[in-house]
Amino acid sequence: MDGGEQEEQPQVEVRRSARRKRTVSAYEEGGRTIVLIPDRFTAAEEAQWVSQMLGRLAARRHRTPRGDQELQERARELSRLHLGGLAKPTSVTWVGNQTTRWGSCTPASGTIRISTRLQQMPSWVLDYVLVHELAHLLAPGHGKDFWALVRSYPRTERARGYLEGFVHAERGSSRPTTSRRARGSRTTSRTAEPAPAPAS
Ligand SMILES: [Zn+2]
Repeated sequence: MDGGEQEEQPQVEVRRSARRKRTVSAYEEGGRTIVLIPDRFTAAEEAQWVSQMLGRLAARRHRTPRGDQELQERARELSRLHLGGLAKPTSVTWVGNQTTRWGSCTPASGTIRISTRLQQMPSWVLDYVLVHELAHLLAPGHGKDFWALVRSYPRTERARGYLEGFVHAERGSSRPTTSRRARGSRTTSRTAEPAPAPAS
C-alpha cells in the first residue's frame, strides 16, 4: 500500500542539444531518467539510444545501490518480491562503522542499517542481508518462522556461505583486537549480523 512501484517503468525525458555531436549520456533525477542526445539524431537513433541507456542504468541499479535512497528502494523491491510487501521499513541506511555486523534492524522503529562493507560484495549477497533484516520486521528472532520467510529469497544459502567464507578469510588475515567481543555476547535488543548459523 505504499505506492512505491515506479521502478519498472521509468519516466524518461529526452533532451536534445545542438552542441552535442555524438555523445549520449543519461542520469536519474527526481525519479525520472534524463537522456541527453545530439540534436541531429533521427527518431530511430533516439529510440535506439534511449533503450540502450535505460539498459545501462538498469544494469547499474542491479549492481550495488549507492546512496541511502537507492538502498531503501532496493529494500522495498525485495520486500515486494520475497515478503509479499509486508515488511515496510521506515528507513534503510548505509552505515560505515558496523565492523562486526552486516546489518541490523530495530523492529520497534522499523529502521534497518546496512554495513558499507557489503558494497564490495556481489549484489545478491547484499540482497540476502536486506531480506534478512526485512524479515526481522516480521519475525524478531531466528526461529523457524523467521527462516521460512528469509528462504523465500532463493540465494539465501549461497549468500550465507559467501559471508561465512568472507569472515573466515578475514579472521585468517587479521588479528582480532582485544576489544572485540566474543560472538555469543553480541545479542542486543537489535538483531545482529553476521550470524552464520549452521545451515540446517
Ligand atoms: Zn538476524
